[in-house]
Amino acid sequence: MRNWLDWFGTKQTETVPKLPSFEDITDLRGKKVLLRAGLNVPLKNGVVAEPFRIEQALPTIKYLQDKGAKVIVVGHIGRAPEGSLRPVFEILSTLVGARWGGELSSQTELLVEKLEDGAVLMLENIRRDLRETTNDDSLATELAALADVYVNDAFADSHRAHSSIVGVPRHLPSYFGASFIKEHSALSAALEPVAPSLFVIGGAKFETKMPLILRFSSHYTQIFIGGALVNDVFKARGLSVGKSLTSNIDLTNSDILLKSNIILPIDVVTDGPAGRRTIKPEEVKEDEMILDVGPATVEMLAPYINAARTILWNGPLGNFEAGFTKGTEELAKSIAHSQTNSIIGGGDTIAAINGLGLNDNFSFLSTAGGAMLTFLETGTLPAIDAVLKH
Ligand code: ADP
Ligand code: MG
Repeated sequence: MRNWLDWFGTKQTETVPKLPSFEDITDLRGKKVLLRAGLNVPLKNGVVAEPFRIEQALPTIKYLQDKGAKVIVVGHIGRAPEGSLRPVFEILSTLVGARWGGELSSQTELLVEKLEDGAVLMLENIRRDLRETTNDDSLATELAALADVYVNDAFADSHRAHSSIVGVPRHLPSYFGASFIKEHSALSAALEPVAPSLFVIGGAKFETKMPLILRFSSHYTQIFIGGALVNDVFKARGLSVGKSLTSNIDLTNSDILLKSNIILPIDVVTDGPAGRRTIKPEEVKEDEMILDVGPATVEMLAPYINAARTILWNGPLGNFEAGFTKGTEELAKSIAHSQTNSIIGGGDTIAAINGLGLNDNFSFLSTAGGAMLTFLETGTLPAIDAVLKH
Protein backbone atom coordinates (compact mmCIF):
# COMPACT_ATOMS: atom_id res chain seq x y z
CA MET A 1 0.00 0.00 0.00
CA ARG A 2 1.14 3.50 -0.72
CA ASN A 3 -0.51 6.56 0.58
CA TRP A 4 -2.17 8.62 -2.14
CA LEU A 5 -0.23 11.65 -0.92
CA ASP A 6 3.07 10.04 -1.96
CA TRP A 7 1.77 9.86 -5.49
CA PHE A 8 -0.42 12.88 -5.80
CA GLY A 9 0.62 15.36 -3.14
CA THR A 10 2.05 17.83 -5.63
CA LYS A 11 0.09 16.87 -8.72
CA GLN A 12 -3.42 17.40 -7.47
CA THR A 13 -2.92 21.01 -6.43
CA GLU A 14 -2.14 21.98 -10.03
CA THR A 15 -5.56 21.17 -11.39
CA VAL A 16 -7.89 20.84 -8.42
CA PRO A 17 -8.90 24.03 -6.63
CA LYS A 18 -7.45 24.25 -3.15
CA LEU A 19 -10.19 24.33 -0.59
CA PRO A 20 -10.18 26.91 2.20
CA SER A 21 -9.09 24.90 5.22
CA PHE A 22 -10.16 25.04 8.87
CA GLU A 23 -6.46 25.57 9.57
CA ASP A 24 -6.65 28.89 7.70
CA ILE A 25 -9.01 30.37 10.30
CA THR A 26 -7.15 32.94 12.36
CA ASP A 27 -7.66 33.96 16.00
CA LEU A 28 -9.80 30.97 16.94
CA ARG A 29 -9.81 31.72 20.65
CA GLY A 30 -13.33 32.69 21.63
CA LYS A 31 -14.52 32.46 18.02
CA LYS A 32 -17.88 30.78 17.44
CA VAL A 33 -17.58 28.09 14.79
CA LEU A 34 -20.60 26.45 13.20
CA LEU A 35 -19.34 22.97 12.27
CA ARG A 36 -21.45 20.96 9.81
CA ALA A 37 -20.28 17.45 10.67
CA GLY A 38 -20.99 14.16 8.89
CA LEU A 39 -22.70 12.23 11.67
CA ASN A 40 -25.14 10.10 9.69
CA VAL A 41 -24.12 6.78 11.27
CA PRO A 42 -26.06 3.51 11.30
CA LEU A 43 -27.92 2.79 14.55
CA LYS A 44 -28.93 -0.53 16.04
CA ASN A 45 -31.40 -0.63 18.95
CA GLY A 46 -30.78 3.06 19.51
CA VAL A 47 -27.00 2.69 19.76
CA VAL A 48 -24.33 3.67 17.21
CA ALA A 49 -23.56 0.49 15.24
CA GLU A 50 -20.60 1.84 13.21
CA PRO A 51 -18.66 4.81 14.63
CA PHE A 52 -16.41 5.37 11.58
CA ARG A 53 -17.92 8.75 10.68
CA ILE A 54 -17.76 9.97 14.29
CA GLU A 55 -14.07 9.07 14.36
CA GLN A 56 -13.60 11.05 11.15
CA ALA A 57 -15.27 14.09 12.69
CA LEU A 58 -12.97 14.14 15.73
CA PRO A 59 -9.75 15.70 14.35
CA THR A 60 -11.52 18.90 13.28
CA ILE A 61 -13.58 19.15 16.48
CA LYS A 62 -10.49 18.60 18.62
CA TYR A 63 -8.41 21.08 16.64
CA LEU A 64 -11.03 23.81 17.03
CA GLN A 65 -11.45 22.94 20.69
CA ASP A 66 -7.70 23.01 21.37
CA LYS A 67 -7.47 26.47 19.77
CA GLY A 68 -10.16 27.72 22.14
CA ALA A 69 -13.03 28.03 19.67
CA LYS A 70 -16.66 27.63 20.73
CA VAL A 71 -17.89 24.82 18.52
CA ILE A 72 -21.53 24.39 17.51
CA VAL A 73 -21.96 20.99 15.89
CA VAL A 74 -24.74 20.56 13.33
CA GLY A 75 -25.54 17.29 11.59
CA HIS A 76 -28.31 14.97 10.50
CA ILE A 77 -29.07 11.30 10.94
CA GLY A 78 -31.23 8.87 8.99
CA ARG A 79 -33.69 9.59 6.24
CA ALA A 80 -36.73 10.27 8.39
CA PRO A 81 -36.72 13.79 9.88
CA GLU A 82 -37.65 12.41 13.30
CA GLY A 83 -34.31 10.57 13.69
CA SER A 84 -32.31 11.71 16.73
CA LEU A 85 -28.60 12.47 17.09
CA ARG A 86 -28.73 11.63 20.81
CA PRO A 87 -26.82 8.33 20.35
CA VAL A 88 -24.05 10.22 18.54
CA PHE A 89 -24.10 12.86 21.25
CA GLU A 90 -23.55 10.17 23.93
CA ILE A 91 -20.24 9.35 22.23
CA LEU A 92 -19.21 12.96 21.60
CA SER A 93 -19.99 13.93 25.18
CA THR A 94 -17.53 11.27 26.35
CA LEU A 95 -14.84 12.04 23.75
CA VAL A 96 -14.92 15.85 23.60
CA GLY A 97 -17.20 16.83 26.48
CA ALA A 98 -19.95 17.94 24.12
CA ARG A 99 -23.09 19.46 25.61
CA TRP A 100 -26.59 18.87 24.29
CA GLY A 101 -28.26 21.85 22.63
CA GLY A 102 -31.48 20.19 21.51
CA GLU A 103 -33.35 21.37 18.45
CA LEU A 104 -32.52 24.73 16.95
CA SER A 105 -34.80 27.33 18.60
CA SER A 106 -34.87 30.87 19.88
CA GLN A 107 -33.06 29.51 22.97
CA THR A 108 -30.05 28.23 21.03
CA GLU A 109 -28.37 31.62 20.87
CA LEU A 110 -28.49 31.85 24.69
CA LEU A 111 -26.82 28.44 24.99
CA VAL A 112 -24.08 29.58 22.61
CA GLU A 113 -23.51 32.78 24.58
CA LYS A 114 -22.89 30.68 27.71
CA LEU A 115 -20.19 28.54 26.08
CA GLU A 116 -16.66 29.01 27.35
CA ASP A 117 -13.63 28.81 25.07
CA GLY A 118 -13.05 25.26 23.85
CA ALA A 119 -16.60 24.09 24.59
CA VAL A 120 -18.67 22.01 22.17
CA LEU A 121 -22.45 22.35 21.80
CA MET A 122 -24.26 19.76 19.75
CA LEU A 123 -27.63 20.40 18.14
CA GLU A 124 -30.33 17.84 17.36
CA ASN A 125 -30.83 16.40 13.82
CA ILE A 126 -31.10 19.50 11.66
CA ARG A 127 -33.53 17.75 9.30
CA ARG A 128 -36.15 17.94 12.07
CA ASP A 129 -36.39 21.50 10.81
CA LEU A 130 -38.18 20.99 7.53
CA ARG A 131 -36.55 24.10 6.07
CA GLU A 132 -33.23 22.20 5.92
CA THR A 133 -34.02 20.02 2.92
CA THR A 134 -35.87 22.79 1.06
CA ASN A 135 -32.76 24.98 1.40
CA ASP A 136 -34.81 27.71 3.01
CA ASP A 137 -32.65 30.79 3.46
CA SER A 138 -34.38 31.68 6.74
CA LEU A 139 -32.86 28.57 8.31
CA ALA A 140 -29.42 29.36 6.87
CA THR A 141 -29.73 32.87 8.33
CA GLU A 142 -30.66 31.52 11.77
CA LEU A 143 -27.78 29.05 11.77
CA ALA A 144 -25.31 31.65 10.56
CA ALA A 145 -26.43 34.07 13.30
CA LEU A 146 -25.11 31.60 15.90
CA ALA A 147 -21.50 31.82 14.73
CA ASP A 148 -18.61 33.86 13.36
CA VAL A 149 -17.37 31.29 10.85
CA TYR A 150 -18.62 28.09 9.20
CA VAL A 151 -16.72 24.84 8.66
CA ASN A 152 -18.11 22.03 6.49
CA ASP A 153 -16.65 18.64 7.41
CA ALA A 154 -19.54 16.58 6.02
CA PHE A 155 -18.35 15.41 2.58
CA ALA A 156 -20.93 12.59 2.46
CA ASP A 157 -23.79 15.10 2.83
CA SER A 158 -22.36 17.72 0.50
CA HIS A 159 -24.09 16.68 -2.72
CA ARG A 160 -27.32 17.96 -1.20
CA ALA A 161 -28.45 21.55 -1.69
CA HIS A 162 -29.60 21.85 1.91
CA SER A 163 -29.56 24.92 4.15
CA SER A 164 -26.77 23.74 6.45
CA ILE A 165 -24.67 22.70 3.43
CA VAL A 166 -25.08 25.37 0.73
CA GLY A 167 -27.14 28.03 2.54
CA VAL A 168 -24.90 28.97 5.47
CA PRO A 169 -21.86 29.79 3.26
CA ARG A 170 -23.92 32.65 1.80
CA HIS A 171 -23.80 34.32 5.21
CA LEU A 172 -20.49 33.41 6.89
CA PRO A 173 -16.79 33.13 6.02
CA SER A 174 -16.58 29.43 5.12
CA TYR A 175 -13.96 26.70 5.34
CA PHE A 176 -13.69 22.92 5.06
CA GLY A 177 -12.72 20.46 7.78
CA ALA A 178 -10.00 17.80 7.89
CA SER A 179 -12.02 14.80 6.75
CA PHE A 180 -13.65 16.80 3.93
CA ILE A 181 -10.27 17.90 2.62
CA LYS A 182 -8.85 14.39 2.90
CA GLU A 183 -11.78 12.92 0.97
CA HIS A 184 -11.61 15.69 -1.62
CA SER A 185 -7.90 15.14 -2.21
CA ALA A 186 -8.19 11.36 -2.49
CA LEU A 187 -11.11 11.51 -4.90
CA SER A 188 -9.41 14.27 -6.90
CA ALA A 189 -6.58 11.81 -7.47
CA ALA A 190 -9.15 9.37 -8.85
CA LEU A 191 -10.36 12.06 -11.26
CA GLU A 192 -6.90 12.28 -12.81
CA PRO A 193 -5.48 8.79 -12.49
CA VAL A 194 -1.83 8.05 -13.13
CA ALA A 195 -1.55 5.57 -16.03
CA PRO A 196 -1.79 2.68 -16.29
CA SER A 197 -5.01 2.89 -14.35
CA LEU A 198 -7.93 0.60 -13.66
CA PHE A 199 -11.51 1.53 -12.84
CA VAL A 200 -13.56 -1.32 -11.40
CA ILE A 201 -17.28 -0.70 -11.36
CA GLY A 202 -19.88 -3.09 -9.99
CA GLY A 203 -23.05 -3.00 -7.95
CA ALA A 204 -26.44 -2.35 -9.45
CA LYS A 205 -28.58 0.25 -11.27
CA PHE A 206 -26.74 0.90 -14.50
CA GLU A 207 -28.47 4.23 -15.06
CA THR A 208 -26.87 5.68 -11.89
CA LYS A 209 -23.38 4.56 -12.93
CA MET A 210 -23.57 5.21 -16.66
CA PRO A 211 -22.25 8.83 -16.49
CA LEU A 212 -19.23 7.62 -14.53
CA ILE A 213 -18.47 4.82 -16.97
CA LEU A 214 -18.70 7.17 -19.94
CA ARG A 215 -16.61 9.87 -18.29
CA PHE A 216 -13.92 7.51 -17.12
CA SER A 217 -13.70 5.51 -20.33
CA SER A 218 -11.42 8.28 -21.58
CA HIS A 219 -9.61 8.81 -18.24
CA TYR A 220 -8.77 5.25 -17.26
CA THR A 221 -6.57 2.83 -19.15
CA GLN A 222 -8.94 -0.06 -18.41
CA ILE A 223 -12.46 -0.31 -17.05
CA PHE A 224 -13.77 -3.55 -15.62
CA ILE A 225 -17.55 -3.89 -15.35
CA GLY A 226 -18.87 -6.47 -12.87
CA GLY A 227 -21.76 -6.85 -10.45
CA ALA A 228 -25.31 -6.69 -11.75
CA LEU A 229 -24.19 -3.91 -14.13
CA VAL A 230 -22.55 -6.37 -16.45
CA ASN A 231 -25.85 -8.19 -16.95
CA ASP A 232 -27.05 -5.16 -18.92
CA VAL A 233 -23.94 -5.28 -21.08
CA PHE A 234 -24.26 -9.02 -21.71
CA LYS A 235 -27.91 -8.51 -22.60
CA ALA A 236 -27.08 -5.71 -25.05
CA ARG A 237 -24.49 -8.00 -26.64
CA GLY A 238 -27.23 -10.56 -27.28
CA LEU A 239 -26.39 -13.05 -24.53
CA SER A 240 -29.07 -14.66 -22.42
CA VAL A 241 -28.87 -13.47 -18.83
CA GLY A 242 -31.80 -15.62 -17.69
CA LYS A 243 -33.42 -14.28 -14.52
CA SER A 244 -30.43 -12.07 -13.60
CA LEU A 245 -30.99 -8.63 -12.13
CA THR A 246 -30.93 -5.99 -14.87
CA SER A 247 -31.64 -2.27 -15.04
CA ASN A 248 -34.29 -0.37 -16.97
CA ILE A 249 -31.75 0.66 -19.53
CA ASP A 250 -31.15 -0.53 -23.06
CA LEU A 251 -27.48 -0.43 -23.98
CA THR A 252 -27.93 -1.88 -27.47
CA ASN A 253 -26.95 1.38 -29.15
CA SER A 254 -24.71 2.66 -26.37
CA ASP A 255 -21.11 3.79 -26.87
CA ILE A 256 -20.24 1.51 -23.98
CA LEU A 257 -20.39 -1.53 -26.27
CA LEU A 258 -17.80 0.06 -28.57
CA LYS A 259 -15.16 1.01 -26.00
CA SER A 260 -12.09 -1.12 -26.49
CA ASN A 261 -10.78 -0.52 -22.97
CA ILE A 262 -13.82 -2.04 -21.25
CA ILE A 263 -13.18 -5.50 -19.79
CA LEU A 264 -15.97 -7.93 -18.88
CA PRO A 265 -16.03 -11.09 -16.74
CA ILE A 266 -14.90 -14.26 -18.49
CA ASP A 267 -16.72 -16.52 -16.05
CA VAL A 268 -19.74 -16.05 -13.80
CA VAL A 269 -21.33 -17.80 -10.82
CA THR A 270 -24.99 -18.57 -11.34
CA ASP A 271 -27.78 -20.05 -9.27
CA GLY A 272 -30.91 -21.83 -10.46
CA PRO A 273 -32.60 -25.23 -10.56
CA ALA A 274 -29.24 -26.84 -11.42
CA GLY A 275 -27.67 -25.31 -8.30
CA ARG A 276 -24.65 -23.06 -8.19
CA ARG A 277 -22.56 -23.22 -11.33
CA THR A 278 -19.38 -21.46 -12.44
CA ILE A 279 -19.74 -21.08 -16.18
CA LYS A 280 -18.92 -18.89 -19.16
CA PRO A 281 -21.23 -15.88 -19.66
CA GLU A 282 -22.61 -17.43 -22.85
CA GLU A 283 -23.69 -20.59 -20.99
CA VAL A 284 -26.31 -18.97 -18.71
CA LYS A 285 -29.68 -20.73 -18.97
CA GLU A 286 -33.07 -19.01 -19.03
CA ASP A 287 -33.91 -20.21 -15.50
CA GLU A 288 -30.57 -19.11 -13.99
CA MET A 289 -29.32 -15.90 -12.39
CA ILE A 290 -25.82 -14.44 -12.57
CA LEU A 291 -24.89 -13.63 -8.98
CA ASP A 292 -21.10 -13.22 -8.97
CA VAL A 293 -18.01 -13.22 -11.14
CA GLY A 294 -15.99 -16.43 -11.22
CA PRO A 295 -12.39 -17.18 -10.18
CA ALA A 296 -10.97 -17.00 -13.72
CA THR A 297 -12.18 -13.40 -13.96
CA VAL A 298 -10.41 -12.31 -10.79
CA GLU A 299 -7.28 -14.10 -12.02
CA MET A 300 -7.55 -12.33 -15.37
CA LEU A 301 -7.65 -8.99 -13.54
CA ALA A 302 -4.48 -9.65 -11.50
CA PRO A 303 -1.98 -8.38 -14.12
CA TYR A 304 -4.01 -5.19 -14.61
CA ILE A 305 -4.15 -4.68 -10.85
CA ASN A 306 -0.45 -5.25 -10.38
CA ALA A 307 0.50 -2.95 -13.27
CA ALA A 308 -1.92 -0.17 -12.33
CA ARG A 309 -0.70 2.98 -10.61
CA THR A 310 -4.24 4.08 -9.79
CA ILE A 311 -7.22 1.85 -9.05
CA LEU A 312 -10.67 3.22 -8.41
CA TRP A 313 -13.28 0.69 -7.32
CA ASN A 314 -16.98 1.20 -6.70
CA GLY A 315 -19.63 -1.49 -6.41
CA PRO A 316 -19.50 -5.13 -5.26
CA LEU A 317 -18.90 -7.75 -7.96
CA GLY A 318 -21.69 -9.99 -6.70
CA ASN A 319 -24.86 -10.24 -4.66
CA PHE A 320 -22.78 -10.44 -1.46
CA GLU A 321 -25.75 -10.11 0.93
CA ALA A 322 -27.07 -13.44 -0.40
CA GLY A 323 -23.69 -15.14 0.10
CA PHE A 324 -22.15 -14.47 -3.30
CA THR A 325 -19.13 -12.80 -1.72
CA LYS A 326 -16.21 -14.57 -3.35
CA GLY A 327 -15.62 -12.34 -6.40
CA THR A 328 -15.70 -9.17 -4.30
CA GLU A 329 -13.47 -10.64 -1.59
CA GLU A 330 -10.89 -12.07 -3.97
CA LEU A 331 -10.72 -8.77 -5.85
CA ALA A 332 -10.25 -6.92 -2.54
CA LYS A 333 -7.37 -9.26 -1.63
CA SER A 334 -5.77 -8.83 -5.02
CA ILE A 335 -5.90 -5.03 -4.75
CA ALA A 336 -4.74 -5.13 -1.11
CA HIS A 337 -1.64 -7.11 -2.08
CA SER A 338 -0.71 -4.75 -4.89
CA GLN A 339 1.43 -1.65 -4.50
CA THR A 340 -1.19 0.51 -6.14
CA ASN A 341 -2.83 3.74 -5.08
CA SER A 342 -6.26 2.25 -4.41
CA ILE A 343 -9.36 4.34 -3.86
CA ILE A 344 -12.41 2.33 -2.90
CA GLY A 345 -15.86 3.72 -2.27
CA GLY A 346 -19.55 2.99 -1.92
CA GLY A 347 -21.63 1.99 1.08
CA ASP A 348 -22.20 -1.56 -0.12
CA THR A 349 -18.66 -2.01 -1.38
CA ILE A 350 -17.18 -1.05 1.99
CA ALA A 351 -19.74 -3.21 3.82
CA ALA A 352 -18.77 -6.17 1.62
CA ILE A 353 -15.03 -5.90 2.28
CA ASN A 354 -15.06 -4.51 5.82
CA GLY A 355 -14.76 -7.86 7.57
CA LEU A 356 -11.66 -8.95 5.65
CA GLY A 357 -9.17 -7.09 7.84
CA LEU A 358 -7.61 -5.49 4.77
CA ASN A 359 -8.72 -1.89 5.27
CA ASP A 360 -5.23 -0.65 6.15
CA ASN A 361 -3.94 -2.06 2.86
CA PHE A 362 -6.00 0.34 0.75
CA SER A 363 -4.93 3.92 0.17
CA PHE A 364 -8.35 5.43 0.71
CA LEU A 365 -11.79 4.14 1.66
CA SER A 366 -14.66 6.49 0.95
CA THR A 367 -17.95 6.10 2.81
CA ALA A 368 -19.49 8.99 0.91
CA GLY A 369 -21.83 7.06 -1.43
CA GLY A 370 -23.95 9.52 -3.41
CA ALA A 371 -21.57 12.42 -2.77
CA MET A 372 -18.65 10.38 -4.07
CA LEU A 373 -20.51 9.54 -7.28
CA THR A 374 -21.52 13.18 -7.76
CA PHE A 375 -17.96 14.36 -7.19
CA LEU A 376 -16.48 11.80 -9.57
CA GLU A 377 -19.08 12.67 -12.23
CA THR A 378 -18.83 16.44 -11.99
CA GLY A 379 -15.48 17.15 -10.30
CA THR A 380 -17.25 19.24 -7.69
CA LEU A 381 -20.12 19.27 -5.18
CA PRO A 382 -22.87 21.78 -4.41
CA ALA A 383 -21.13 22.46 -1.07
CA ILE A 384 -17.84 23.26 -2.80
CA ASP A 385 -19.48 25.55 -5.35
CA ALA A 386 -21.36 27.29 -2.53
CA VAL A 387 -18.05 28.24 -0.92
CA LEU A 388 -15.79 28.79 -3.95
CA LYS A 389 -18.30 30.58 -6.16
CA HIS A 390 -19.80 32.70 -3.43
P1 ADP B 1 -22.28 0.82 -3.61
O1 ADP B 1 -23.24 1.07 -2.47
O2 ADP B 1 -20.99 0.25 -3.14
O3 ADP B 1 -22.11 2.02 -4.52
P2 ADP B 1 -24.36 -0.33 -5.25
O4 ADP B 1 -25.36 0.26 -4.32
O5 ADP B 1 -24.25 0.19 -6.61
O6 ADP B 1 -22.93 -0.33 -4.54
O7 ADP B 1 -24.66 -1.88 -5.47
C1 ADP B 1 -24.67 -2.81 -4.45
C2 ADP B 1 -25.71 -3.87 -4.72
O8 ADP B 1 -25.45 -4.56 -5.93
C3 ADP B 1 -25.67 -4.89 -3.62
O9 ADP B 1 -26.95 -4.94 -3.03
C4 ADP B 1 -25.34 -6.20 -4.33
O10 ADP B 1 -26.01 -7.31 -3.82
C5 ADP B 1 -25.83 -5.90 -5.72
N1 ADP B 1 -25.26 -6.81 -6.74
C6 ADP B 1 -24.00 -6.87 -7.20
N2 ADP B 1 -23.88 -7.85 -8.11
C7 ADP B 1 -25.10 -8.42 -8.24
C8 ADP B 1 -25.64 -9.47 -9.04
N3 ADP B 1 -24.90 -10.14 -9.91
N4 ADP B 1 -26.97 -9.76 -8.89
C9 ADP B 1 -27.73 -9.08 -8.02
N5 ADP B 1 -27.27 -8.08 -7.26
C10 ADP B 1 -25.98 -7.75 -7.37
MG1 MG C 1 -25.35 1.12 -2.42
